[in-house]
Amino acid sequence: KTKNAAEPEFLQAVEEVLESIRPVVEANEELYRKEAILERITEPDRQFKFRVAWVDDNGQAQVNTGYRVQFNNAIGPYKGGLRLHPSVYLGIIKFLGFEQVFKNSLTGLPIGGGKGGSDFDPKGKSDREVMAFCQSFMTELYKYIGADVDVPAGDIGTGAREIGYLYGQYKRITRLYEGVLTGKGLTYGGSLARTEATGYGLLYMTEELLKSHGQDMAGKTCVVSGAGNVAIYAIQKAHQLGAKCVTCSDSTGWIYDPEGIDVDLLKEVKEVKRARLTEYAAARPSAEYHEGRGVWSVKCDVALPCATQNELLIDDAKALVANGCIAVCEGANMPTTLDATQYLQENGVYFVPGKAANAGGVATSALEMSQNSERLSWTFEEVDAKLKDIMVNIYHNIDDAAKRYGKEGNYVAGANIAGFEKVVDAMLAQGVC
Ligand code: NDP
Repeated sequence: KTKNAAEPEFLQAVEEVLESIRPVVEANEELYRKEAILERITEPDRQFKFRVAWVDDNGQAQVNTGYRVQFNNAIGPYKGGLRLHPSVYLGIIKFLGFEQVFKNSLTGLPIGGGKGGSDFDPKGKSDREVMAFCQSFMTELYKYIGADVDVPAGDIGTGAREIGYLYGQYKRITRLYEGVLTGKGLTYGGSLARTEATGYGLLYMTEELLKSHGQDMAGKTCVVSGAGNVAIYAIQKAHQLGAKCVTCSDSTGWIYDPEGIDVDLLKEVKEVKRARLTEYAAARPSAEYHEGRGVWSVKCDVALPCATQNELLIDDAKALVANGCIAVCEGANMPTTLDATQYLQENGVYFVPGKAANAGGVATSALEMSQNSERLSWTFEEVDAKLKDIMVNIYHNIDDAAKRYGKEGNYVAGANIAGFEKVVDAMLAQGVC
């Protein structure tokens, strides 16, 4: 704690994992102590921090900081997204990298955990400025990554445009045409269904969760936060399953649309125009726009936080319970604070943490890596079917893991235990390193 005191998000993520794997640690106390398993698993293999200098449209040089944390590669090459947001600093990247280790393990695919990004804000920048930033960022990052070493992807602020510029620069410097990034465009090695994967996967998980408790998504009212990649495709799949999503949000405000969010309009506003939600409200008579935050105050059956970390607080959890919410499944990474999570669990709400519920994105990224390796492309239906299988398997694995340790229904414990066991097995087999 003292060593990482300046990184509260990292400490929060570690605390949650360590607390919930306690029964596994107690059952293997001597071995884990001798092998320093907990010390090794919480210390990244290595971390890079570098200057990213670029020139803006006024001819002014700008400087940002770039990061890549390679956390653990016991079960496969490092894999995890690049976040571009002004709030990025080492603590955020370390928390995300640490979570990624267990999430990637849960997918059942051979991928280790890492994460990266920069405090660069793509919002309001021209395409040329974003390209200049991405080229400069990759000019340093390329030294540390590779198709069999570390394979970054998108995250907040890093979408198809940014991945394209990053890939172009990697190829230019290394002369390699390889699957070094995922989330690529379909014309240069991307996978069908990757764009939809995190949101769709979240709903496949939610559907399986409800099914196993004798319920169905059809007819359910959902509240969703965020209006980015995860939120958009979560809403789309929820509607396909017969549910109705009545909210979405961005960092300035939120929408309540009792007729259900119009996904085509939301995509137009966010993906095409890169505009604010006020434009959604202006084009949709049934929608109300509210400044600030507030989606969790809306009555719902299912809540899907899909924006960012620590966006669902204790008072929000109380409002959800009071309004009869039965399930919270995290599309974002660590959107629910520890006390809010505990409150939801204690009040009978089924709660599935992001490392399980949003694993569909990275799982499909791993499928993109497989397609790149065999130089073939699979159909949308093929990838989507594999994604669904993976999410259903994850649900049953975390459910079983929780049951094995007497924590039935505690999916936080189940996810941490199932993810942890596999990584630790591999670490033990590979010796102290
Ligand atoms: P996007 O950048 O596409 O969208 C993020 C959304 O969240 C935007 O609507 C954004 O609003 C909002 N948001 C971001 N930061 C804040 C903040 N500090 N306060 C309030 N709202 C905020 O990102 P993604 O949809 O890709 O990612 C969302 C979450 O899902 C993240 O936690 C990410 O790590 C996680 N995730 C994403 C995966 C993926 O495949 N994309 C995979 C697994 C997890 P605004 O536009 O105003 O900034």
